Amino acid sequence: MKVDLTGKTAVVTGGSSGIGLATARLFLDAGANVAICGRDSDRLASAMEDLGADEARLMSFQCDVLNKEQVNGFARAVEEKFGGTDILVNNAGQARVANFAEASDDDWRDEFELKLFSVIYPTRAFLPLLEKSDIPSIVCSNALLARQPEPHLVLTSSARAAILNMLRSLATEFAPKGIRVNSILIGMIESGQLHRRHKAQAKNGESFDDWSRALARIREIPLGRVGLSEEAAQAIFFLGSPLSSYTTGATLDVSGGLNRNV
Ligand code: NDP
Repeated sequence: MKVDLTGKTAVVTGGSSGIGLATARLFLDAGANVAICGRDSDRLASAMEDLGADEARLMSFQCDVLNKEQVNGFARAVEEKFGGTDILVNNAGQARVANFAEASDDDWRDEFELKLFSVIYPTRAFLPLLEKSDIPSIVCSNALLARQPEPHLVLTSSARAAILNMLRSLATEFAPKGIRVNSILIGMIESGQLHRRHKAQAKNGESFDDWSRALARIREIPLGRVGLSEEAAQAIFFLGSPLSSYTTGATLDVSGGLNRNV
């Protein structure tokens, strides 16, 4: 099935790397205009080069999603260039490793600020544009931790659960406007963070593939491997595009079977 998003615009926060970059590529391939943001200008420039699309259909904007003014500026720039926004992918973020004994008050505040406001600011800024779309949709990159917490990721797990709850309310509140709100629940996807762990932990020249498969066995991931950014991006694309036009308030599991919930 081919989805034609020609003339539509997809915005991807954290689109300069990993899942966000793979998502931007899928929307470009479907004909959409794409706007990505991130904090690091070099990473953004290399993502633009990597995506290699016509500049008439692709833009980047340097912006920290935790800075309200910068996010509002991003929305204005997207409106100026593309005239609106049809799909917003709230993807920017990272995990914070700590158990309860290690976590300070500031760690708790920082983690809740990152996880909640990385969704709140872009959603608020792009809402007026989404309201004018005929296929409006919001998709968030969330984590399986929201439903299946891990003690060594207590901060992230708690904040992810809060997002899951908030998104369910947004889905109901925005439904009369036709704006769908969904999220993916990611287990373990190949990422810069995982590659750094491989470099630090792998012994005797063990390849990333062998090392990550061993990790998947230890973590008891039923499919026996970590996922690819493209596999998470495909789930985001499905939820963001009209392929899922009758789905809102839902989560799509991208965890290789790690999700033990029925
Ligand atoms: P990457 O580290 O590869 O990409 C993260 C992206 O977000 C980068 O473009 C980064 O750019 C951007 N970013 C981070 N913080 C900010 C910020 N404050 N403002 C703007 N941009 C920001 O991660 P993944 O692709 O692996 O992860 C994507 C999302 O999925 C994240 O939210 C992550 O927490 C979540 N996730 C990932 C899992 C995994 O296994 N990979 C598991 C569960 C959830 P820059 O640093 O230049 O700002």
